[in-house]
Amino acid sequence: MKIKITTTSLILLVFLSCQNKQVPKSIKTTTIEAPEIEKWMWLHGTADTEAATLKAQFKTLAKNGLTGVLIGGDNESMFRAAKAEGLQAHIWLWTLNRGDEYIMKNHADWYSINRNGESCFDNPPYVSYYRWLCPTNKEVRSFLKDEIRKLSQKDYIDGIHLDYVRYCDVILPVALWEKYNLIQNEELPEFDYCYCETCRAAFQKESSNDPLKLADPSADTSWINFRYQQVTSLVNELAAIAHKNEKPISAAVFPTPPIAKKLVRQDWISWNLDRIFPMVYHAFYEKEISWIEDATREGVNKLEGRIPILSGIYMPDIENELVLKEAIDGALKGGATGISLFGKLTSEQWKMVKGE
Ligand SMILES: [Zn+2]
Repeated sequence: MKIKITTTSLILLVFLSCQNKQVPKSIKTTTIEAPEIEKWMWLHGTADTEAATLKAQFKTLAKNGLTGVLIGGDNESMFRAAKAEGLQAHIWLWTLNRGDEYIMKNHADWYSINRNGESCFDNPPYVSYYRWLCPTNKEVRSFLKDEIRKLSQKDYIDGIHLDYVRYCDVILPVALWEKYNLIQNEELPEFDYCYCETCRAAFQKESSNDPLKLADPSADTSWINFRYQQVTSLVNELAAIAHKNEKPISAAVFPTPPIAKKLVRQDWISWNLDRIFPMVYHAFYEKEISWIEDATREGVNKLEGRIPILSGIYMPDIENELVLKEAIDGALKGGATGISLFGKLTSEQWKMVKGE
């Protein structure tokens, strides 16, 4: 529950109490609002910057009850068009998975190296767009910090949304194993990062062990924690920059704290963010729709109310509006303060989001 006291009503209150008169019924001194369910959507940047098209697009999204949009890339006209319709507009960034031309051309040494000694620069794992930067590398950090600083200072960007802020999947969500013809009951060396010189030296300083010489790196708690800490400290440094510029910052994360740690080394419970968007994509984990509630609750309980959770819903796996209702209800029952949608919705599904 939020209690809002406006400046005008405060002034009135003081004035009226000096007059020793009762506050007229028509003037509200306090407004008690029901908690609002936040509804967000990930939105790919578009090359189409035709003002009328953008206006129509965002008008429809606002009419459909969205709170805000997470826009892929720094496309000023999209941000301004969204804001003009009353939507919050945050920039959706690929943080550590970066195939940028500039980085590829100039900084091959920024890329993560797996336990076999192969770099994401020329040996991307699973898919060609998996180009993971090393979070320990100081130059990578300063590049990312500069980027967040510049974006946070733009007046048309309301906030920052970090995606791909993690290591490469050392284990893929189970539903993808077949697609890549893999069995990942253990951490395979070709998907296990990062063993670059910087990481090896930094870990050796902490533990006097070379991670490459560990008998079973997947069982070494210090090595596991070292990597959680690399991402956590990066996120918290980026958060401090956004906050300094008075911009909220959030992240898309793997669905529950244990899954996020095990699959991608994200310890998101330790991140200083303003919102967390766990991607509770049930079908990726071969779960029923009811799992959305359980997964959401797990994160909410671990965070102990410190940070609002908005459950991410993957629309390609939502068959119809009734399933969407189950997903949204489940997220809210699990303690989410809202939802975020990925993918396209039918008009019937939009009606459900709007609450019609
Ligand atoms: Zn490294």
